[in-house]
Amino acid sequence: MDRYVEAERATIAYPRKGRVVEAVRDVSLSVANREFVALVGPSGCGKTTLLHAIGGLVPIQSGQIRCAGRPVTGPGPERVMVFQEFSLLRWRDVRRNVEFALECNRVPAAQRKPIVDRLLKQVGLANHADAYPDQLSGGMKQRVAIARALAYDAEVLLMDEPFGALDAQTRLVMQALLLEIWEGSRKTVVFVTHDIDEAIYLADRILIMSTGPGTVKAEYPVKAPRPRPADFVISEQFLDLKRRIYGAIRAEDFRKPPQAGQAPVSV
Ligand code: ADP
Ligand code: MG
Repeated sequence: MDRYVEAERATIAYPRKGRVVEAVRDVSLSVANREFVALVGPSGCGKTTLLHAIGGLVPIQSGQIRCAGRPVTGPGPERVMVFQEFSLLRWRDVRRNVEFALECNRVPAAQRKPIVDRLLKQVGLANHADAYPDQLSGGMKQRVAIARALAYDAEVLLMDEPFGALDAQTRLVMQALLLEIWEGSRKTVVFVTHDIDEAIYLADRILIMSTGPGTVKAEYPVKAPRPRPADFVISEQFLDLKRRIYGAIRAEDFRKPPQAGQAPVSV
């Protein structure tokens, strides 16, 4: 299906002090099957809100969100979330954290071990299967979370700043790992980040969100070959795109007061 994840004039609001405040207004987007789309924008522009709505974790006020042609009314087996804060189960070791997804999917116990072994190998944690989350670095924790997300075997990966809590170097390693996995599986990915370099390096297409209330204001295709060449991030093409995206974001005057009834701007 060409338009696998779609939002059509979706508006999402939260109750606040007895009123309803719109966090995202009239957002339309569409993500093709097996496409990698990055959602970029300043803090508070509604990236998480929109991603949660696609995941079926928050309801929408008006408009529609569809996945595989069906309206999203809650979480579903074809969509899985990866959060910034890893959200691992502290009382389970690495193997059992990944196994959790298989339990949720009711994969019979006898079939679980080879699947977990394969996924742990894929994320480079084959030798840490019996470690507990507290014994792992941030990068390793996020690798467990990614292995667990893959274990759900969903078509759509919804990733909310998954590398935001990692140091710069670990982040680069994790980006390369994610691309390697994605090139092997070609899942549909919606990846939220506020890091423009990360978005250009990873995505087929970048959607820029602006704030007050959040909406998608521009879109940039990244027409670089896959797998991305090692020097892509220092190429003229990369820097040119980065310049254009910076320009678009800076053109946004975040100091202007929000209109009545709109969400306050936070930067
Ligand atoms: P981003 O992920 O881009 O930083 P969010 O989606 O977290 O933005 O937030 C968008 C807007 O919605 C902000 O104004 C924020 O304060 C508001 N918001 C987010 N979550 C909630 C919530 N659970 N209750 C009330 N307001 C919220
Ligand atoms: Mg967020």
